[in-house]
Amino acid sequence: MSGIQVIVHKCVGCGVCEQVCPYGAITMENDLPLFGPECTLCGACVEACPYDAIIIVKETSEEVDPSGYSGILVYAEHRSGRIASVVPEIIGAALALKKDLGEPVAALLMGKDVSAAAAELLQYGIDTVYLADHPDIRDFEEDTAAEVFAQVVRMKKPAIVLGGGTVEGRSLLPRVAVKLRTGLTADCTELAIEPESRLLKQTRPAFGGNIMATILTERNRPQMATVRHKVMSEAPRLEGPVTGTVEKLKVTVPPSALEVLEFVEERSDTVNLTEADVIVSAGRGIKDPKNLVLVEKLALAAGGALGASRAVVDAGWIPYSHQVGQTGKTVNPTVYIACGISGAIQHLAGMKSSDIIVAVNSDEHAPIFEVADYGIVGDLFEVIPEMIKQLGG
Ligand SMILES: Cc1cc2nc3c(=O)[nH]c(=O)nc-3n(C[C@H](O)[C@H](O)[C@H](O)COP(=O)(O)OP(=O)(O)OC[C@H]3O[C@@H](n4cnc5c(N)ncnc54)[C@H](O)[C@@H]3O)c2cc1C
Repeated sequence: MSGIQVIVHKCVGCGVCEQVCPYGAITMENDLPLFGPECTLCGACVEACPYDAIIIVKETSEEVDPSGYSGILVYAEHRSGRIASVVPEIIGAALALKKDLGEPVAALLMGKDVSAAAAELLQYGIDTVYLADHPDIRDFEEDTAAEVFAQVVRMKKPAIVLGGGTVEGRSLLPRVAVKLRTGLTADCTELAIEPESRLLKQTRPAFGGNIMATILTERNRPQMATVRHKVMSEAPRLEGPVTGTVEKLKVTVPPSALEVLEFVEERSDTVNLTEADVIVSAGRGIKDPKNLVLVEKLALAAGGALGASRAVVDAGWIPYSHQVGQTGKTVNPTVYIACGISGAIQHLAGMKSSDIIVAVNSDEHAPIFEVADYGIVGDLFEVIPEMIKQLGG
Protein backbone atom coordinates (compact mmCIF):
# COMPACT_ATOMS: atom_id res chain seq x y z
CA MET A 1 0.00 0.00 0.00
CA SER A 2 1.35 3.43 -0.81
CA GLY A 3 1.26 6.24 1.75
CA ILE A 4 3.00 7.45 4.84
CA GLN A 5 4.08 4.92 7.42
CA VAL A 6 5.60 5.01 10.89
CA ILE A 7 8.25 2.46 11.84
CA VAL A 8 6.86 1.90 15.30
CA HIS A 9 10.00 0.42 16.88
CA LYS A 10 12.04 3.47 15.81
CA CYS A 11 9.54 6.16 16.89
CA VAL A 12 10.18 7.61 20.36
CA GLY A 13 7.15 9.91 20.32
CA CYS A 14 9.26 13.11 20.33
CA GLY A 15 6.57 15.03 18.39
CA VAL A 16 9.00 16.81 16.01
CA CYS A 17 6.90 15.63 13.08
CA GLU A 18 3.78 17.27 14.55
CA GLN A 19 5.64 20.57 14.90
CA VAL A 20 7.07 20.66 11.37
CA CYS A 21 4.00 19.53 9.45
CA PRO A 22 3.00 22.58 7.32
CA TYR A 23 -0.55 21.25 6.95
CA GLY A 24 -1.34 20.49 10.60
CA ALA A 25 -2.02 16.93 9.49
CA ILE A 26 -0.23 15.16 12.36
CA THR A 27 -1.50 14.59 15.89
CA MET A 28 0.32 12.55 18.51
CA GLU A 29 -1.62 9.74 20.10
CA ASN A 30 -0.07 7.27 22.53
CA ASP A 31 3.33 8.69 21.58
CA LEU A 32 2.82 7.84 17.91
CA PRO A 33 1.99 10.23 15.05
CA LEU A 34 -1.44 9.92 13.47
CA PHE A 35 -1.82 11.33 9.97
CA GLY A 36 -5.04 13.15 9.10
CA PRO A 37 -6.62 13.63 5.65
CA GLU A 38 -4.79 16.98 5.31
CA CYS A 39 -1.52 15.03 4.70
CA THR A 40 -0.22 15.73 1.20
CA LEU A 41 2.78 13.37 1.47
CA CYS A 42 4.99 16.47 1.24
CA GLY A 43 7.73 14.65 3.19
CA ALA A 44 8.51 17.45 5.67
CA CYS A 45 8.08 15.05 8.60
CA VAL A 46 10.21 12.38 6.93
CA GLU A 47 13.10 14.82 6.65
CA ALA A 48 12.64 16.23 10.13
CA CYS A 49 12.34 12.95 12.04
CA PRO A 50 15.60 12.54 14.01
CA TYR A 51 15.03 8.78 14.28
CA ASP A 52 14.24 7.98 10.62
CA ALA A 53 10.98 6.57 11.87
CA ILE A 54 8.70 7.92 9.10
CA ILE A 55 8.77 6.72 5.53
CA ILE A 56 6.73 7.33 2.41
CA VAL A 57 6.00 4.16 0.51
CA LYS A 58 5.29 4.74 -3.14
CA GLU A 59 3.49 2.23 -5.29
CA THR A 60 5.40 1.58 -8.47
CA SER A 61 3.03 1.80 -11.40
CA GLU A 62 3.21 -0.69 -14.18
CA GLU A 63 4.90 0.46 -17.36
CA VAL A 64 2.82 0.17 -20.49
CA ASP A 65 3.83 -0.44 -24.05
CA PRO A 66 3.34 2.97 -25.71
CA SER A 67 3.25 1.47 -29.20
CA GLY A 68 -0.35 0.33 -28.65
CA TYR A 69 -1.53 3.91 -28.15
CA SER A 70 -2.09 6.59 -30.77
CA GLY A 71 -4.12 9.70 -31.47
CA ILE A 72 -5.37 12.56 -29.34
CA LEU A 73 -8.63 12.48 -27.39
CA VAL A 74 -10.27 15.72 -26.30
CA TYR A 75 -12.85 15.66 -23.52
CA ALA A 76 -15.86 17.59 -24.79
CA GLU A 77 -17.14 19.16 -21.60
CA HIS A 78 -20.71 20.41 -21.78
CA ARG A 79 -23.63 21.39 -19.60
CA SER A 80 -26.83 19.67 -20.75
CA GLY A 81 -25.50 19.42 -24.28
CA ARG A 82 -24.14 22.98 -24.50
CA ILE A 83 -20.42 22.69 -25.35
CA ALA A 84 -18.18 24.50 -22.85
CA SER A 85 -16.24 27.46 -24.23
CA VAL A 86 -12.92 25.83 -23.32
CA VAL A 87 -13.53 22.94 -25.75
CA PRO A 88 -12.72 24.82 -29.01
CA GLU A 89 -9.49 25.94 -27.31
CA ILE A 90 -8.52 22.36 -26.45
CA ILE A 91 -9.38 21.27 -29.97
CA GLY A 92 -7.18 24.12 -31.28
CA ALA A 93 -4.30 22.80 -29.17
CA ALA A 94 -4.98 19.21 -30.26
CA LEU A 95 -5.04 20.13 -33.97
CA ALA A 96 -1.71 21.94 -33.54
CA LEU A 97 -0.25 18.79 -31.96
CA LYS A 98 -1.69 16.71 -34.80
CA LYS A 99 0.53 18.61 -37.24
CA ASP A 100 3.65 17.33 -35.47
CA LEU A 101 2.35 13.96 -34.40
CA GLY A 102 0.49 13.05 -37.59
CA GLU A 103 -2.19 11.21 -35.60
CA PRO A 104 -5.96 11.82 -35.58
CA VAL A 105 -7.90 13.98 -33.13
CA ALA A 106 -11.09 12.65 -31.58
CA ALA A 107 -13.47 14.09 -28.99
CA LEU A 108 -15.32 12.22 -26.29
CA LEU A 109 -18.89 13.42 -25.87
CA MET A 110 -20.78 11.69 -23.11
CA GLY A 111 -24.05 12.37 -21.38
CA LYS A 112 -27.79 12.03 -21.72
CA ASP A 113 -29.40 13.20 -24.99
CA VAL A 114 -26.24 14.91 -26.19
CA SER A 115 -26.01 13.60 -29.75
CA ALA A 116 -26.93 17.02 -31.21
CA ALA A 117 -23.67 18.45 -29.89
CA ALA A 118 -21.64 15.89 -31.88
CA ALA A 119 -22.30 17.72 -35.16
CA GLU A 120 -21.11 20.97 -33.60
CA LEU A 121 -17.85 19.33 -32.47
CA LEU A 122 -17.14 18.03 -35.97
CA GLN A 123 -17.30 21.59 -37.28
CA TYR A 124 -14.04 22.29 -35.47
CA GLY A 125 -12.26 19.95 -37.89
CA ILE A 126 -11.69 16.90 -35.72
CA ASP A 127 -11.64 13.40 -37.18
CA THR A 128 -14.05 11.54 -34.92
CA VAL A 129 -16.56 12.16 -32.16
CA TYR A 130 -16.89 9.21 -29.80
CA LEU A 131 -20.45 9.48 -28.61
CA ALA A 132 -21.47 7.83 -25.36
CA ASP A 133 -25.10 8.85 -25.13
CA HIS A 134 -26.78 7.06 -22.25
CA PRO A 135 -29.75 7.98 -20.02
CA ASP A 136 -27.78 7.12 -16.88
CA ILE A 137 -24.88 9.51 -17.52
CA ARG A 138 -26.02 12.59 -15.65
CA ASP A 139 -24.43 15.99 -15.07
CA PHE A 140 -22.35 16.25 -11.87
CA GLU A 141 -22.18 12.47 -11.27
CA GLU A 142 -18.46 12.43 -11.73
CA ASP A 143 -17.86 8.95 -10.33
CA THR A 144 -20.00 7.49 -13.11
CA ALA A 145 -18.54 9.84 -15.70
CA ALA A 146 -14.98 8.90 -14.72
CA GLU A 147 -15.76 5.21 -15.11
CA VAL A 148 -17.29 5.68 -18.57
CA PHE A 149 -14.41 7.96 -19.61
CA ALA A 150 -11.88 5.32 -18.49
CA GLN A 151 -13.77 2.63 -20.44
CA VAL A 152 -13.54 4.71 -23.62
CA VAL A 153 -9.83 5.30 -23.12
CA ARG A 154 -9.23 1.57 -22.57
CA MET A 155 -11.25 0.85 -25.73
CA LYS A 156 -9.69 3.48 -28.01
CA LYS A 157 -6.20 3.74 -26.51
CA PRO A 158 -5.36 7.37 -27.33
CA ALA A 159 -1.74 8.39 -26.71
CA ILE A 160 -2.86 11.80 -25.40
CA VAL A 161 -5.99 12.84 -23.48
CA LEU A 162 -6.76 16.53 -23.01
CA GLY A 163 -9.44 18.28 -20.99
CA GLY A 164 -10.20 21.78 -19.74
CA GLY A 165 -8.65 23.20 -16.59
CA THR A 166 -12.19 24.04 -15.54
CA VAL A 167 -14.05 23.16 -12.35
CA GLU A 168 -15.31 19.98 -14.04
CA GLY A 169 -12.02 19.15 -15.78
CA ARG A 170 -10.03 19.59 -12.58
CA SER A 171 -12.33 17.17 -10.82
CA LEU A 172 -13.05 14.59 -13.52
CA LEU A 173 -9.72 14.08 -15.29
CA PRO A 174 -7.71 13.26 -12.14
CA ARG A 175 -10.30 10.56 -11.33
CA VAL A 176 -9.82 9.12 -14.81
CA ALA A 177 -6.02 9.30 -14.49
CA VAL A 178 -6.17 7.35 -11.24
CA LYS A 179 -8.35 4.67 -12.82
CA LEU A 180 -5.92 4.38 -15.72
CA ARG A 181 -2.88 4.57 -13.42
CA THR A 182 -1.28 7.29 -15.47
CA GLY A 183 -0.01 10.81 -14.84
CA LEU A 184 -1.85 14.09 -15.32
CA THR A 185 -0.42 17.56 -15.70
CA ALA A 186 -3.00 20.09 -14.57
CA ASP A 187 -3.53 23.57 -15.97
CA CYS A 188 -1.06 23.51 -18.85
CA THR A 189 -0.34 26.79 -20.60
CA GLU A 190 1.64 25.23 -23.44
CA LEU A 191 1.61 21.86 -25.19
CA ALA A 192 4.05 20.59 -27.81
CA ILE A 193 5.47 17.37 -29.21
CA GLU A 194 9.10 16.54 -28.50
CA PRO A 195 10.41 15.64 -31.95
CA GLU A 196 12.76 12.77 -31.00
CA SER A 197 10.60 10.93 -28.50
CA ARG A 198 7.19 12.07 -29.85
CA LEU A 199 6.20 12.60 -26.22
CA LEU A 200 3.81 15.34 -25.17
CA LYS A 201 5.63 18.29 -23.57
CA GLN A 202 3.22 19.55 -20.91
CA THR A 203 4.23 23.00 -19.71
CA ARG A 204 2.69 24.78 -16.74
CA PRO A 205 3.72 27.43 -14.23
CA ALA A 206 5.28 26.07 -11.06
CA PHE A 207 6.46 27.52 -7.76
CA GLY A 208 3.93 30.33 -7.75
CA GLY A 209 4.53 31.15 -11.39
CA ASN A 210 8.25 31.78 -10.90
CA ILE A 211 9.29 29.03 -13.29
CA MET A 212 7.69 27.16 -16.15
CA ALA A 213 7.94 23.39 -15.69
CA THR A 214 7.79 21.03 -18.66
CA ILE A 215 6.58 17.57 -17.75
CA LEU A 216 6.81 14.37 -19.79
CA THR A 217 4.81 11.20 -19.13
CA GLU A 218 7.41 8.72 -20.27
CA ARG A 219 6.29 5.36 -18.95
CA ASN A 220 2.50 5.46 -18.76
CA ARG A 221 -0.31 5.93 -21.23
CA PRO A 222 -2.26 7.92 -22.04
CA GLN A 223 -0.41 11.18 -21.43
CA MET A 224 -3.06 13.31 -19.75
CA ALA A 225 -3.23 17.07 -19.34
CA THR A 226 -5.76 19.75 -18.57
CA VAL A 227 -5.48 23.04 -20.41
CA ARG A 228 -5.91 26.42 -18.80
CA HIS A 229 -8.91 28.34 -20.12
CA LYS A 230 -8.22 31.37 -22.32
CA VAL A 231 -4.60 30.50 -23.03
CA MET A 232 -4.74 28.38 -26.21
CA SER A 233 -6.21 29.68 -29.48
CA GLU A 234 -9.61 28.36 -30.42
CA ALA A 235 -9.91 26.09 -33.46
CA PRO A 236 -11.84 27.97 -36.13
CA ARG A 237 -15.35 26.71 -36.84
CA LEU A 238 -15.44 25.40 -40.39
CA GLU A 239 -18.20 26.37 -42.76
CA GLY A 240 -19.68 23.79 -45.11
CA PRO A 241 -19.67 19.99 -45.00
CA VAL A 242 -17.51 18.24 -42.46
CA THR A 243 -15.26 15.25 -43.07
CA GLY A 244 -15.21 13.81 -39.56
CA THR A 245 -17.51 11.06 -38.35
CA VAL A 246 -19.52 10.23 -35.25
CA GLU A 247 -18.93 6.83 -33.71
CA LYS A 248 -21.55 5.68 -31.22
CA LEU A 249 -20.05 3.71 -28.36
CA LYS A 250 -21.63 1.07 -26.18
CA VAL A 251 -20.62 1.76 -22.62
CA THR A 252 -21.49 0.23 -19.29
CA VAL A 253 -22.73 2.86 -16.86
CA PRO A 254 -22.28 1.93 -13.22
CA PRO A 255 -24.64 3.40 -10.62
CA SER A 256 -23.46 6.64 -9.04
CA ALA A 257 -22.80 6.96 -5.33
CA LEU A 258 -23.78 10.61 -5.66
CA GLU A 259 -27.25 12.05 -5.49
CA VAL A 260 -27.67 15.48 -7.04
CA LEU A 261 -30.34 17.21 -4.99
CA GLU A 262 -30.53 20.50 -6.80
CA PHE A 263 -28.66 22.62 -9.32
CA VAL A 264 -28.54 26.28 -8.36
CA GLU A 265 -27.07 28.44 -11.07
CA GLU A 266 -24.89 31.18 -9.63
CA ARG A 267 -26.60 34.55 -9.81
CA SER A 268 -24.49 36.83 -11.92
CA ASP A 269 -25.50 40.38 -12.62
CA THR A 270 -22.24 41.11 -14.34
CA VAL A 271 -20.51 39.49 -17.32
CA ASN A 272 -18.69 36.14 -17.12
CA LEU A 273 -15.13 36.77 -15.83
CA THR A 274 -13.19 34.75 -18.36
CA GLU A 275 -15.07 36.25 -21.28
CA ALA A 276 -15.08 39.86 -19.98
CA ASP A 277 -13.34 42.72 -21.74
CA VAL A 278 -13.16 44.79 -18.57
CA ILE A 279 -12.62 43.37 -15.09
CA VAL A 280 -12.69 45.33 -11.85
CA SER A 281 -11.28 43.32 -8.95
CA ALA A 282 -11.52 43.87 -5.22
CA GLY A 283 -8.76 43.08 -2.76
CA ARG A 284 -8.45 43.07 1.01
CA GLY A 285 -8.04 46.86 0.82
CA ILE A 286 -11.84 47.13 0.67
CA LYS A 287 -11.70 46.20 4.37
CA ASP A 288 -15.30 45.04 4.78
CA PRO A 289 -17.65 42.94 2.63
CA LYS A 290 -20.21 45.72 2.62
CA ASN A 291 -17.73 47.82 0.62
CA LEU A 292 -17.80 45.29 -2.21
CA VAL A 293 -20.79 47.13 -3.58
CA LEU A 294 -18.53 50.10 -4.36
CA VAL A 295 -16.24 47.96 -6.55
CA GLU A 296 -19.30 46.31 -8.09
CA LYS A 297 -20.64 49.77 -8.99
CA LEU A 298 -17.38 50.57 -10.75
CA ALA A 299 -17.59 47.24 -12.62
CA LEU A 300 -21.13 48.08 -13.75
CA ALA A 301 -20.16 51.64 -14.75
CA ALA A 302 -17.24 50.25 -16.80
CA GLY A 303 -19.43 47.53 -18.32
CA GLY A 304 -17.25 44.87 -16.82
CA ALA A 305 -17.18 41.84 -14.55
CA LEU A 306 -16.36 41.69 -10.88
CA GLY A 307 -13.17 39.88 -9.89
CA ALA A 308 -11.46 39.40 -6.54
CA SER A 309 -8.23 38.42 -4.90
CA ARG A 310 -8.03 35.21 -2.94
CA ALA A 311 -7.91 37.17 0.33
CA VAL A 312 -11.43 38.41 -0.36
CA VAL A 313 -12.64 34.95 -1.38
CA ASP A 314 -11.03 33.25 1.62
CA ALA A 315 -12.70 35.78 3.90
CA GLY A 316 -16.03 34.58 2.49
CA TRP A 317 -16.92 38.00 1.11
CA ILE A 318 -17.48 36.75 -2.46
CA PRO A 319 -17.80 33.28 -4.10
CA TYR A 320 -14.73 31.49 -5.40
CA SER A 321 -15.95 31.82 -8.99
CA HIS A 322 -14.78 35.48 -8.85
CA GLN A 323 -11.21 34.64 -7.81
CA VAL A 324 -8.47 35.70 -10.19
CA GLY A 325 -5.06 34.13 -9.93
CA GLN A 326 -3.04 30.98 -9.81
CA THR A 327 -5.72 29.02 -7.97
CA GLY A 328 -8.57 31.02 -9.46
CA LYS A 329 -9.31 32.10 -13.01
CA THR A 330 -6.81 33.21 -15.62
CA VAL A 331 -8.19 36.29 -17.30
CA ASN A 332 -7.11 38.26 -20.29
CA PRO A 333 -9.29 41.37 -20.53
CA THR A 334 -8.56 44.60 -22.36
CA VAL A 335 -8.68 46.50 -19.06
CA TYR A 336 -8.05 45.10 -15.57
CA ILE A 337 -8.64 47.43 -12.62
CA ALA A 338 -7.19 46.19 -9.31
CA CYS A 339 -8.68 47.93 -6.27
CA GLY A 340 -6.89 47.44 -2.98
CA ILE A 341 -4.92 44.44 -4.23
CA SER A 342 -1.25 44.21 -3.24
CA GLY A 343 -0.15 42.26 -6.33
CA ALA A 344 1.07 38.97 -4.86
CA ILE A 345 2.73 36.74 -7.44
CA GLN A 346 -0.18 34.28 -7.26
CA HIS A 347 -2.64 37.04 -8.14
CA LEU A 348 -0.43 38.32 -10.97
CA ALA A 349 -0.29 34.78 -12.41
CA GLY A 350 -3.96 35.11 -13.32
CA MET A 351 -4.11 38.64 -14.73
CA LYS A 352 -0.74 39.94 -15.80
CA SER A 353 -1.41 39.28 -19.48
CA SER A 354 -4.30 41.82 -19.42
CA ASP A 355 -3.79 44.50 -22.10
CA ILE A 356 -4.07 47.47 -19.74
CA ILE A 357 -3.69 47.17 -15.97
CA VAL A 358 -4.91 49.95 -13.70
CA ALA A 359 -4.08 49.74 -9.98
CA VAL A 360 -5.58 51.69 -7.11
CA ASN A 361 -3.61 51.25 -3.91
CA SER A 362 -2.77 53.49 -0.96
CA ASP A 363 0.72 51.99 -0.67
CA GLU A 364 3.03 53.41 -3.34
CA HIS A 365 5.36 50.44 -2.88
CA ALA A 366 2.68 47.81 -3.51
CA PRO A 367 4.00 45.26 -6.07
CA ILE A 368 0.89 45.67 -8.21
CA PHE A 369 2.39 48.96 -9.44
CA GLU A 370 5.26 47.00 -11.03
CA VAL A 371 2.85 45.48 -13.56
CA ALA A 372 0.39 48.38 -13.76
CA ASP A 373 0.21 50.58 -16.85
CA TYR A 374 -1.66 53.21 -14.83
CA GLY A 375 -1.14 53.46 -11.07
CA ILE A 376 -3.26 55.56 -8.76
CA VAL A 377 -1.72 55.93 -5.30
CA GLY A 378 -4.64 56.80 -3.08
CA ASP A 379 -7.47 55.72 -0.88
CA LEU A 380 -9.84 53.56 -2.91
CA PHE A 381 -12.81 54.97 -0.99
CA GLU A 382 -12.01 58.34 -2.57
CA VAL A 383 -10.64 57.17 -5.93
CA ILE A 384 -13.38 54.70 -6.89
CA PRO A 385 -16.35 57.08 -6.41
CA GLU A 386 -14.47 59.58 -8.60
CA MET A 387 -13.88 56.94 -11.28
CA ILE A 388 -17.58 55.96 -11.20
CA LYS A 389 -18.52 59.63 -11.54
CA GLN A 390 -16.20 60.12 -14.51
CA LEU A 391 -17.65 57.02 -16.17
CA GLY A 392 -21.08 58.53 -15.78
CA GLY A 393 -22.24 55.89 -13.29
C1 LIG B 1 -0.56 28.40 -3.34
C2 LIG B 1 -1.17 29.76 -3.30
C3 LIG B 1 -2.09 30.10 -4.26
C4 LIG B 1 -2.67 31.37 -4.25
N1 LIG B 1 -3.58 31.69 -5.23
C5 LIG B 1 -4.06 32.94 -5.26
C6 LIG B 1 -4.96 33.34 -6.31
O1 LIG B 1 -5.37 32.56 -7.16
N2 LIG B 1 -5.37 34.62 -6.32
C7 LIG B 1 -4.99 35.55 -5.39
O2 LIG B 1 -5.42 36.70 -5.48
N3 LIG B 1 -4.16 35.19 -4.40
C8 LIG B 1 -3.71 33.91 -4.30
N4 LIG B 1 -2.91 33.57 -3.27
C9 LIG B 1 -2.78 34.51 -2.13
C10 LIG B 1 -1.76 35.59 -2.38
O3 LIG B 1 -0.47 35.15 -1.99
C11 LIG B 1 -2.11 36.85 -1.54
O4 LIG B 1 -2.21 36.49 -0.20
C12 LIG B 1 -3.43 37.51 -1.97
O5 LIG B 1 -3.44 37.72 -3.36
C13 LIG B 1 -3.53 38.85 -1.24
O6 LIG B 1 -4.75 39.45 -1.55
P1 LIG B 1 -4.90 41.02 -1.50
O7 LIG B 1 -3.91 41.66 -2.44
O8 LIG B 1 -6.33 41.33 -1.67
O9 LIG B 1 -4.57 41.36 0.03
P2 LIG B 1 -3.31 42.06 0.66
O10 LIG B 1 -2.05 41.44 0.22
O11 LIG B 1 -3.59 42.16 2.11
O12 LIG B 1 -3.34 43.52 0.01
C14 LIG B 1 -4.27 44.49 0.33
C15 LIG B 1 -3.83 45.77 -0.36
O13 LIG B 1 -4.81 46.77 -0.17
C16 LIG B 1 -4.14 48.02 -0.02
N5 LIG B 1 -5.05 48.91 0.68
C17 LIG B 1 -5.44 48.87 1.98
N6 LIG B 1 -6.32 49.84 2.23
C18 LIG B 1 -6.49 50.53 1.08
C19 LIG B 1 -7.27 51.66 0.72
N7 LIG B 1 -8.10 52.27 1.59
N8 LIG B 1 -7.19 52.11 -0.55
C20 LIG B 1 -6.37 51.50 -1.45
N9 LIG B 1 -5.62 50.44 -1.16
C21 LIG B 1 -5.68 49.95 0.11
C22 LIG B 1 -2.89 47.69 0.77
O14 LIG B 1 -1.90 48.67 0.56
C23 LIG B 1 -2.51 46.33 0.18
O15 LIG B 1 -1.58 46.48 -0.87
C24 LIG B 1 -2.33 32.31 -3.26
C25 LIG B 1 -1.39 31.94 -2.30
C26 LIG B 1 -0.83 30.70 -2.31
C27 LIG B 1 0.21 30.34 -1.26
